[in-house]
Amino acid sequence: SHSLLAAMHGFDPLRLGAPVLLADGLKSHNQISVPGIGSHFEHCYLAGDLLDADAMISVTHFTGHELTGFGGVLKNLAMGCASRQGKMHQHCGMGPKVHAAKCIGCGRCVEVCAPGALALDESGNITLDQAACTGCANCLLACKQECLYINWDLDARHFLERMVEYAGAFLTAFTWPLMHMSFLLQVTPNCDCKTYSNAPICPDTGILASYDPVALDQAGLDLVNAAVQQGSPSMEASNGDVFSTLHPRTNGPAILELAEKMGLGSRTYSLQTVQ
Ligand code: SF4
Ligand code: SF4
Repeated sequence: SHSLLAAMHGFDPLRLGAPVLLADGLKSHNQISVPGIGSHFEHCYLAGDLLDADAMISVTHFTGHELTGFGGVLKNLAMGCASRQGKMHQHCGMGPKVHAAKCIGCGRCVEVCAPGALALDESGNITLDQAACTGCANCLLACKQECLYINWDLDARHFLERMVEYAGAFLTAFTWPLMHMSFLLQVTPNCDCKTYSNAPICPDTGILASYDPVALDQAGLDLVNAAVQQGSPSMEASNGDVFSTLHPRTNGPAILELAEKMGLGSRTYSLQTVQ
């Protein structure tokens, strides 16, 4: 379960001296629907208990990411504050990928597919009408046979927009005091979802804090790029961004442009060092 996994990673009340709550519940059913703030979503699904908090400090481990270039505060808010359905929603821009050979024809996915994009043919095989799919991700949650899964080949820009919209939906819905911290320590090329850990791409650079998530991610990106270039001057940086070189399909700086355009913060910042 998520609770057990969290405890194994050190998020244990006996170690922390504080309760550890999974904000979307033991079975990920505790969610709240809030209005979308962009063009992709009418509604966004957030972890229900988060919106009950009186204040929040978001804590992010800054790393590279194979879909978004880098994973920082905005990505953490978008994915971390979404319920399980919300996470799927962001990833499901072009509908699921179908592994038809595993299908047992139970029809669970067909029942939850409101636009009728999924159907069982005469032989009981699942079929997807891509044009009818709205990317709601309901089917990913319904299928227990692992026939339907996230389409990682989706257009990367599309995914960034969806992710930033989710971050914005949370920032709009959460009206209590909120600050952000970003740990530029052990900055690995891939995100922490991986079951392995690569060598860091640069020396530890510090811990950043701000009320502005966009400024914090811009500063994190600039500091990591500078640290990588200093340590490995031969490393090519597409547009000055080493993550675009590590993950060629990505454009991390576009996250910050989108977020600034959406009014989630400013890319302009000044660094103040606290010893
Ligand atoms: S349930 Fe949603 S994501 Fe799945 S096929 Fe239907 S519309 Fe697409
Ligand atoms: S839920 Fe999974 S197993 Fe059942 S019909 Fe849909 S794809 Fe097939």
